[in-house]
Amino acid sequence: MQIDILTIFPRFFDEFLQHGMVRVARKQGQVEISITDLRAFSEDRHRTVDDRPYGGGPGMLLKPEPVFRALDLLGLKPGEAPPDGTVPLLMCPRGRQLGQGDLETFAGAQRLVILCGRYEGYDERIVEAYPWQRVSLGDYVLSGGEVPAMAILEGAIRLMPGVLGDGESVLRDSFNEWPGADGLDHAGWTRPPEYRGRGVPEVLRSGDHGAIEEWRRRDSLRQASDREITGREIHRDE
Ligand code: SAH
Repeated sequence: MQIDILTIFPRFFDEFLQHGMVRVARKQGQVEISITDLRAFSEDRHRTVDDRPYGGGPGMLLKPEPVFRALDLLGLKPGEAPPDGTVPLLMCPRGRQLGQGDLETFAGAQRLVILCGRYEGYDERIVEAYPWQRVSLGDYVLSGGEVPAMAILEGAIRLMPGVLGDGESVLRDSFNEWPGADGLDHAGWTRPPEYRGRGVPEVLRSGDHGAIEEWRRRDSLRQASDREITGREIHRDE
């Protein structure tokens, strides 16, 4: 898969690309990520990428020229369908909220082109001219689209076949079908068996795989009902 990210802060991604599954997938050659600096496509010597909105009001908007010019180079033509296999994504709080199903779709794409906004957002011609899928991270406003773009990469790349060593671990994650409960992962413990007076549920150390599976299934259901009450304190002392 090829991923192109357009941003006015390309350095944001320097460190990000060098860790975790993103790094692994790049090293394996499963994904190639290229960062385009929108400032390189501005038309004046101050490398301006923003301007004041017509009609007045606070804040600045991302100008159309640097974005159109950068997209020209990436092969996206205004008013036209994207090249086969290319999914153009616009980071936007007014978009549809990103879900696990979207990440699965993105993981199967040949190419993603991700535009990160800044300031008060985009000159609307940027929005209109391309067949964007508008993606929101959630109902809140961030200062830019870089973190949403990173969220998409963190979520989609791990779903690509062969990236996580153990394919089952993806299936067992929350929002997947395993183990047929409400789709939330169960709690887990690792060594040591006791730490600061806190132990590990006996059943998980019993070696009884049937009982362990049953315990986990129940815990998945409990996680789901815990989640209904937002902000509830988690306290496990039984
Ligand atoms: N004025 C806009 C917010 C602009 S925030 C509004 O009220 O809708 C600047 C940029 O940050 C956006 O263009 C977008 O690219 C990014 N951004 C902010 N919040 C986001 C969110 N929840 N999801 C995705 N992108 C977001």
